[in-house]
Amino acid sequence: MKKIAIIGAGISGLYLANLFKGNKDYQITIYEKKKSIVTEEGYGIQLSVNSIKLLNKIGFNSLPEEEKFNPKKIDFYEIRNSKKICDLEISKFNSENCKYTTLKRSKLLQFLKNNLGDDVIRYNHSVNQIEYDNDLITLNFDNHKINCDYLIVSDGVFSKGKSLISNNQSKPIYNNCVAIRANISKNNLHNINNENISLFLGANFHYVVYPLNRDQNLNFIGILKYRLNSNEQANQKLNEESYFIEAIKSKLNQKISASLFECLQNVKLFPVFVSKNFYNAPQNTFLVGDAFFALSPSFAQGASQSIEGSYELYESILNNLDFHNKRMQRIKMINNRSNFNQFAFHLSNPIMTLFRNISLKLLTKNKKFLESYLGKVYKN
Ligand SMILES: Cc1cc2nc3c(=O)[nH]c(=O)nc-3n(C[C@H](O)[C@H](O)[C@H](O)COP(=O)(O)OP(=O)(O)OC[C@H]3O[C@@H](n4cnc5c(N)ncnc54)[C@H](O)[C@@H]3O)c2cc1C
Repeated sequence: MKKIAIIGAGISGLYLANLFKGNKDYQITIYEKKKSIVTEEGYGIQLSVNSIKLLNKIGFNSLPEEEKFNPKKIDFYEIRNSKKICDLEISKFNSENCKYTTLKRSKLLQFLKNNLGDDVIRYNHSVNQIEYDNDLITLNFDNHKINCDYLIVSDGVFSKGKSLISNNQSKPIYNNCVAIRANISKNNLHNINNENISLFLGANFHYVVYPLNRDQNLNFIGILKYRLNSNEQANQKLNEESYFIEAIKSKLNQKISASLFECLQNVKLFPVFVSKNFYNAPQNTFLVGDAFFALSPSFAQGASQSIEGSYELYESILNNLDFHNKRMQRIKMINNRSNFNQFAFHLSNPIMTLFRNISLKLLTKNKKFLESYLGKVYKN
């Protein structure tokens, strides 16, 4: 029996463990640095059909209907005048059992965790050193060591596992924007269709509002262009500093209406860090999820790609196939689209904005374009 050690119990590590669960040729253990899987109740996640198809392989379709939502369209608006620009029918990519889904992140994590036995996840485990000796990999924790045949590094964008094996060569970079997560009640938003995803475009700022289930609360996620100096970038607790929170709130206040601003609840800030390069890990060691490559959030593909990457890795280990290069090609394509989305969503020049809106109106109804721009991502 081969031993697989997974570092990090996030979406990618948990999904991979679910795939290997029940395969008698492999024994999996996840080492998670936190004392539990922290699941902030309110915040949401979007999952496109490419990841729903893979989640269904481990029984996601049996999750109660009231815990998820299937938006039909993305409605595009201009923040400046609240006018709708156009809409895009994302449900066109759905099939009977695979539908574009939004839900609480906590529900997804609970589902992934509940399917695993109690002995699979070891909490309070942060790896300090990784050693290679012939075919054996040794992980050193605070007061003990373990050996494994395969090492999967899925500890997120600031991956310590990746830093250890790459000698700090592969650090993420600040994406010059801050993500603002919040909840908002349906009663506070008028003139939008609560059955859809609403995407509001503005100068150096966009925000997305979507339902997570049939409840009153909607998920709010804003992406605000914002410069940070090097000390701020290095401060992992910046989002708790009161001066920073006030600075972002004051900037946000200039971007959205006072009434919308007042209605935001449970506001939490995340400076957005992304990967700048790929790192091919040594012998029987693989990176997945944000540790493999952290995308900018403007295509909402981070979680979906984490799931896709874990599935590809599972198949690669079982069948001894190349994982890194194939995954890298796909992530490069999605990263280019994500960066382009962010550029287009944040335009500030009125002529460019006018041109963008006309293009959006035409392209969101152009079958060929949609097949190529979204279909290539949503159909894996
Ligand atoms: C504001 C925001 C909104 C987003 N919205 C969406 C969305 O709508 N749709 C979408 O597809 N994606 C979205 N994403 C991206 C998505 O959340 C990530 O891409 C995804 O969670 C990555 O999963 P992961 O398993 O690689 O890492 P993570 O989910 O970050 O999990 C990493 C795990 O590793 C653990 N860990 C960290 N360090 C160590 C260590 N040294 N030792 C052991 N364990 C460790 C952590 O505690 C954590 O449990 C969003 C991201 C942000 C910031």
